[in-house]
Amino acid sequence: MMPATVFRPAEPPEMPVEEEHHAFVELEKVTHTYGRGDRKIQALIETDLRIEQGDFVALVGPSGCGKSTILKLVTGLITASSGYVYVAGREVGAEPVRVGMAFQNPTMLPWLSLRDNVMLPLKIVPPFRREYRAKRRGEFRDRVEALLAQVGLGGFSDKYPWQLSGGMLQRASLCRALIHEPQLLMLDEPFGALDQFTREELWAVMQDLWMTRKPTVLLVTHDLKEAAYLASRICVMRARPGRIVEESEVAFPRPRTIAMSYEPNFVALTQRLRELIMSAQADKEETS
Ligand code: ADP
Ligand code: MG
Repeated sequence: MMPATVFRPAEPPEMPVEEEHHAFVELEKVTHTYGRGDRKIQALIETDLRIEQGDFVALVGPSGCGKSTILKLVTGLITASSGYVYVAGREVGAEPVRVGMAFQNPTMLPWLSLRDNVMLPLKIVPPFRREYRAKRRGEFRDRVEALLAQVGLGGFSDKYPWQLSGGMLQRASLCRALIHEPQLLMLDEPFGALDQFTREELWAVMQDLWMTRKPTVLLVTHDLKEAAYLASRICVMRARPGRIVEESEVAFPRPRTIAMSYEPNFVALTQRLRELIMSAQADKEETS
């Protein structure tokens, strides 16, 4: 008689019990759909993105590819249709994370001085709001002055928004986005409305703020030179459906300068990004 084959369950492999490590910001297979039925728009499909703490990541891509959708998912303004979004190791929304934001249009309250505009987050955001009354004429005021000085606006804190140029307002808007020491800084085309020279000045200001304060930054931009000047990593997106198609490390030493942006390596990088995006545009035209 043949000996019966004995099937033994395989030994369970020794699995180290390990805490799942999440990057500071992490998107895992995130899909997002706006609307329903005929109006359904697939804004983002199966998107993965990891941003380590203190990193500076740029998202570039054609209009409508889901850049702002990613910012909204990370700040918890919208919830992913499927997949997971983690911020500071927890699912987004589980615990409030301090976020600073700046947009193309630096909306300042016209009836407040520059100082009071910049101080606004300290009046609103915990834990600062508790101490606001006690510190607004002392410590908080000093903090605002120091930040304004760092971006070249020393001596302007008593001015009102209408007394300042677009570039100065955007500098102030960066200060306002950073005054409450956010863990995350979200920038959606913040320099898009400025002329070329002012924009380049602001890149230097932004770089200095990041190098001294090291917030985790997610920058959305159309400007490839801007992405290559500021970011440590660039994610290129495509539309319909929106997704990240390529990621490039940007290894140029810091502080970076405008002169560097004319060097062959730098030009080669922006050229390659441009081709990636143009080929995506061409695909789109073919299929539509
Ligand atoms: P980007 O910032 O890259 O230009 P968005 O993330 O704003 O793109 O949008 C991605 C896609 O989702 C676009 O096709 C856009 O029209 C659509 N979309 C964005 N917001 C909404 C919304 N609230 N309702 C319906 N569709 C939206
Ligand atoms: Mg957008």
